Amino acid sequence: MKTYLLSALLVSGLLASPAQAKLRIFACEPEWGSLVHELAGDKVDVDVATSAMQDVHQIEAKPSLIAKIRRADLTVCSGAELEVGWLPQLVRQSGNQKVASGDGVFSAASQVTTLQKPAKLDRASGDVHPQGNPHIQMDPYRMLTVAKALTARLALLDPTNAAFYQQRLADFSARWSTATKKWEAKAAPLKGRNIVVQHDAWIYLTTWLGIKQVGALEPKPGVPPTSAHLASLVAITKSSNTLAIIRAAYQDPKASEWLSERTGVPAVALPFTVGGNPESKDLFGMFDSTIDILLGAAK
Ligand SMILES: [Zn+2]
Repeated sequence: MKTYLLSALLVSGLLASPAQAKLRIFACEPEWGSLVHELAGDKVDVDVATSAMQDVHQIEAKPSLIAKIRRADLTVCSGAELEVGWLPQLVRQSGNQKVASGDGVFSAASQVTTLQKPAKLDRASGDVHPQGNPHIQMDPYRMLTVAKALTARLALLDPTNAAFYQQRLADFSARWSTATKKWEAKAAPLKGRNIVVQHDAWIYLTTWLGIKQVGALEPKPGVPPTSAHLASLVAITKSSNTLAIIRAAYQDPKASEWLSERTGVPAVALPFTVGGNPESKDLFGMFDSTIDILLGAAK
């Protein structure tokens, strides 16, 4: 019986020719799952590890995630230590050598210049990311740079479909560049406005749109808002030109609503990633919705 099972497994293993097996991608965050979908369509299978309603700085290393990493040919994650609290542990427990060796790892932040790289590392400054701010998904230009690099990696891992991936990239790039121009035109009235944020995760969006961050509800990145710190933000938030108090979809609204009540500045939740609200069905929807919400606050 045992011998029969073994040979059956061997035969089925042989039948599943590696050339025909689909690449398996493990995307840490929904935005990268969506980007993979844009670039690879149904030529790959994608497991998206987290949802827009989770804080991706802190994910529980569940057995279901270990199983997903185990079968991955490539992990596609923000990197810059965003996932340092859970991903290395998952990779270790999965025993996936391809990923453990780095061959099966794609870090989005490594493809671009990051902002806010600290001159010196000081844990007293809070949960500071030594490789710069990892929340790069809200800059459409960096997104396109990542798309190009990711396409090259997909083609390398799956040369049979290389031409397909290049074609998808060309198509995506054209649609993305058109959309970027549209977003910039629409967002023009936001230029020069101020925002207060919950977590320091919007630097790429604000830099792109010419918005200025004048305060953060978290006293230090990753440290929950305190009432003393919130009180200290009332004056600056009240100052003219403050557009909104911004949080990501997954964050508790309490702190931003408290500040909103005391200042009259609207508190808004931005999707932050794909799935962060019903409009953010893909990367295009995520940017459409982000700009619509900000423009809504400006009225
Ligand atoms: Zn962060």
